[in-house]
Amino acid sequence: MAKKKQPTHQQIGKLPPMYRFFLNPYQDMRWSKCPQCDEKMHQRKFVLFIHIESNLPLNLNKNCRYCPHCDLLIAHQNDMEQVLSHICEKEIGSDEYLVLGTVEKKVWKRGDQQTIMLQEALDAMHDFKEVITFKVTGGWMPRNAKR
Ligand SMILES: [Zn+2]
Repeated sequence: MAKKKQPTHQQIGKLPPMYRFFLNPYQDMRWSKCPQCDEKMHQRKFVLFIHIESNLPLNLNKNCRYCPHCDLLIAHQNDMEQVLSHICEKEIGSDEYLVLGTVEKKVWKRGDQQTIMLQEALDAMHDFKEVITFKVTGGWMPRNAKR
């Protein structure tokens, strides 16, 4: 399996970058084993910091897969879009949002779920170290990650 690094953006969170992030586009791949080291992945909730076009950033407490050996965090794209569409009360497609990092859980708990003040969220945010894509076959094209 090859991995591809997407262009890095400027760091926006105040805290040191954490985790290597993969937004899983394959609905039939649930990654109970790590795509990199083949160890069993943990299931754990992370507060994800999500930029949605024309909206304030969203903080979402979401079940993710995590491999401590590879420092790899995986979220499922279809789950994510379902939740985002529900929150925004309209269809949210893959080119309309970006997952930028994680927010400290204690700060998220203090706020009323999604409605933490922006500055407070940025102060408690870790950007991802890198955003990566695992290709399962040669046929998959990475989505446009310019935004
Ligand atoms: Zn691993």
